[in-house]
Amino acid sequence: MEREHIIMAKQVALYVLLVSVAIAGITTAPPLTIVILVFFGFKIYELVYFRSAKFIAIKNRISAHIQDRNDLNDHIEELKSTHIGADMTRRGHSDYHDNSKWNFKRSGFKKITNAPNVYNCSRSVCDGSRRDPMKYVCKYFGFSADEPTLSKFENMLNNFTAVEDGKNSLTSEKNEILASISDDVPFLIKKFSKKLLAKKLGFKDVDLSDTYYPSFKFQYVSAGGNASTENTIVMDIPNLNAMVNYLNDRIKWKKSVAGQRALMTSALRKHILERDNYTCRQCGISTYAEPHLLLEVDHIIPVSKGGMTTEDNLQTLCWRCNRTKGAKLNV
Ligand SMILES: [Zn+2]
Repeated sequence: MEREHIIMAKQVALYVLLVSVAIAGITTAPPLTIVILVFFGFKIYELVYFRSAKFIAIKNRISAHIQDRNDLNDHIEELKSTHIGADMTRRGHSDYHDNSKWNFKRSGFKKITNAPNVYNCSRSVCDGSRRDPMKYVCKYFGFSADEPTLSKFENMLNNFTAVEDGKNSLTSEKNEILASISDDVPFLIKKFSKKLLAKKLGFKDVDLSDTYYPSFKFQYVSAGGNASTENTIVMDIPNLNAMVNYLNDRIKWKKSVAGQRALMTSALRKHILERDNYTCRQCGISTYAEPHLLLEVDHIIPVSKGGMTTEDNLQTLCWRCNRTKGAKLNV
């Protein structure tokens, strides 16, 4: 109680100071000074508001909801870091120098020459990669048409689709939380301190860009450096679907597996969610109860433990149950 009185006293003192400075300023100062005064006046108002008991009460009221959303964000960040193991360094290291006189210096070129996702090639290979992207990625970045590679790409597709769905959930949930407290937050704060309000409430910064998709680049530069072409293939959702289908067409399946296994494409994912009526098979929560809920498709017996991509072995789980399951499996 006493602390609140001190805060109140401080607030009053600040307002008095602000108002007197403002009056003194407005009567004597040129326009620029007025702008500066208004700016600092608002900053002080902000500072006082975010320390007020009223704001802290709002924050406490919604803290569990915000924590849940931040957990979802962490989960999505983990899904984003799915790797397919494209690393040309596994072929070995060497020490290469270009000692030619002209020594091509176009900026940016040298930096990416040795990047693991860039393949320096002839003009015809670069052109070929445009005509048949998945074939060229496999051939020049060392992905063989076998089951483990296919599983990796399917897993990546499944996880990245969840990321894309999850990003929408994050945005919708944030808007929903902010709407629920809208009546309690002063107009000026809502209008001019939107970002700071989100930060003070405890929202984590969320990266909504799609730069996490791996990309492969074919690059041709002529000997003199005058001519160059490049072709970048970004492994986004449509390309991951294309890759899964491409690999499947080329795999020589063992008799026991052929025909039994489904392909974990976006279409199958959608089918499983529909089959399970958008309901988590573990805890029973659904998108009917929680409209922005992130639902994922899970292998009941994980692929790493010999589980197959068959409809019987796939189930809908909410992100919370899937995360708990993942954590248990990793122990
Ligand atoms: Zn669940």
